[in-house]
Amino acid sequence: MMHLTQDNYYGKAASEHYFSVSQYKDFMKCEAAALARIRGEYNPPPTRAMLVGGFVDSYFEGTLEAFKHENPAVFTRRKELRSEFRKANEIIGRVQEDPLFMQFMSGEKQKILIFWMFGAPWKMKMDSFSEGICITDLKVVANFRNLPLWRYDLQGAVYQKGAEICGYGRLPFYLAAVTKERLPDLDIFQIPQATLDMALREVEGNMPRFIAVKNGLEKPNGCGVCDYCKSIKRAGIRNYNELLEG
Ligand SMILES: [Zn+2]
Repeated sequence: MMHLTQDNYYGKAASEHYFSVSQYKDFMKCEAAALARIRGEYNPPPTRAMLVGGFVDSYFEGTLEAFKHENPAVFTRRKELRSEFRKANEIIGRVQEDPLFMQFMSGEKQKILIFWMFGAPWKMKMDSFSEGICITDLKVVANFRNLPLWRYDLQGAVYQKGAEICGYGRLPFYLAAVTKERLPDLDIFQIPQATLDMALREVEGNMPRFIAVKNGLEKPNGCGVCDYCKSIKRAGIRNYNELLEG
């Protein structure tokens, strides 16, 4: 299996070689877009929300200065931090005051594992890995209410299984979550084992199809509505009334 470092983890060769939770989620959303992304034909720029998450991640990793340097989008033209990133600084300050939150974030940072699972090579990178204790992923979210919509159970399932395959035993998976609300809320969420088990079975069930598509053995389905599908579509003639249905 291809050797991975912090420098090539997000590279094209790595995404061609490995599955990851985010690539798996790409395939769930739209196979055609996922494949185009792997082939380097479709590169949506990171959203501001993703950059805010990256900003806070990089603080915990101890690489915030490098992050700011590599992402000039965090600054205004007057070289001041944009409001979202001032908020990110406030969030960092808030979680630093919380002993439990900091305890969960005190493991080994950005630890990379590679492993074979469900007929394919996988890669994963953990925000905080406490050997023999737990895996924690940091989430900066709009609010707690929508947390389950992001399907972090899939991430937890793959990370738990990946660590187990790599010989670290079966560890509980936690989300260290903090909100971007005017007054940030913060808690540690454990994803129950039954939920992780169910999510892992879901991954197992979908992998044969995704592997075949990734390897070019089966044709990808386009969802027809995502940005990628819109970018490659040809106009058609449609019945006006279909827009009124559903
Ligand atoms: Zn699509």
